[in-house]
Amino acid sequence: MLNQLLFPVAKRFVSGQTIQDAVTAVRRLNASGIRTTLDVLGENVSDRRAADAAVATYLETLDWIQREGLSSNVSLKLTQMGLDIDRDYCLENVARICERAAGNNFVRIDMEGSAYTERTLNFFYELFQKHQNVGVVIQAYLHRSEQDVRRLIELRARVRLCKGAYKEPPSLAVQTMAAVRQNFMSLASLLLSKGNHPAMATHDDVLISWTKNYIAQHQLPKDGFEFQMLYGVRSETQRQLAAHGYSMRVYVPFGTHWLPYFYRRMRERKENVAFVLKNLFRK
Ligand SMILES: Cc1cc2nc3c(=O)[nH]c(=O)nc-3n(C[C@H](O)[C@H](O)[C@H](O)COP(=O)(O)OP(=O)(O)OC[C@H]3O[C@@H](n4cnc5c(N)ncnc54)[C@H](O)[C@@H]3O)c2cc1C
Repeated sequence: MLNQLLFPVAKRFVSGQTIQDAVTAVRRLNASGIRTTLDVLGENVSDRRAADAAVATYLETLDWIQREGLSSNVSLKLTQMGLDIDRDYCLENVARICERAAGNNFVRIDMEGSAYTERTLNFFYELFQKHQNVGVVIQAYLHRSEQDVRRLIELRARVRLCKGAYKEPPSLAVQTMAAVRQNFMSLASLLLSKGNHPAMATHDDVLISWTKNYIAQHQLPKDGFEFQMLYGVRSETQRQLAAHGYSMRVYVPFGTHWLPYFYRRMRERKENVAFVLKNLFRK
């Protein structure tokens, strides 16, 4: 009931419940010179049926991308692929998706809360030995991230850098916006100068300007990295960056399990809560 009430509002951040909805959103973005990464919403599955269904949807999504000639890759969460059920089973699932993407596509493993950081990275290192078309995410708020970034750079692995979306304790993560930004910039400078096509996933004007200045000062090519943003967030900025020759990729989630994703977007911005309330009670 609450889900039905909230979905029209969640549609600001979620492209729709079906793959066809997502394809429509991707086509629209591609037409503005924006690439996408498709995310089949879902996380923390506890039975194999749910994980199998998610795998099947990812395989179908890759087929759609191929068939329709879309400029898109995919992003997934390990807990949706069965990490909490059985690691080997999860590995087989993600390997199948990487195999389907092999040739000309790419699979990004999203980073979840800190209970999964170590497991996600170890999983990634193992998968990456066989599948080079897979990348991972580093969260700038975690104290451990510099060490992880250095190792990923050595491996020539592709990294998406973001601030981090989960609530983490001071023992694991810096807590102020100034400190998160500072960490982001120091990790970004490593990735931009030595990394393999890194992604700067942020909507933060301070970090976007910093990134543009960094590559200009160091005479790095505009297409050696990409900016990434979320569907429905700062769409005008997305279009402007693409129009100014930057590689721009938008994370396009779709599916029926949208509530936890929507909740994280609410937590990031108190204005979003006002937006939800206003829209819920609008006649
Ligand atoms: C492509 C992509 C992939 C991501 N993948 C992961 C991941 O795998 N793991 C993870 O932990 N986190 C992930 N994140 C989320 C990220 O960690 C941050 O929580 C999120 O991007 C907000 O941080 P920000 O840098 O945009 O800065 P903020 O300071 O939060 O935002 C800067 C400005 O952007 C706009 N903005 C930001 N968020 C919103 C919002 N929700 N609604 C409306 N406006 C907003 C506002 O104008 C705000 O002032 C991802 C983010 C992106 C863009």
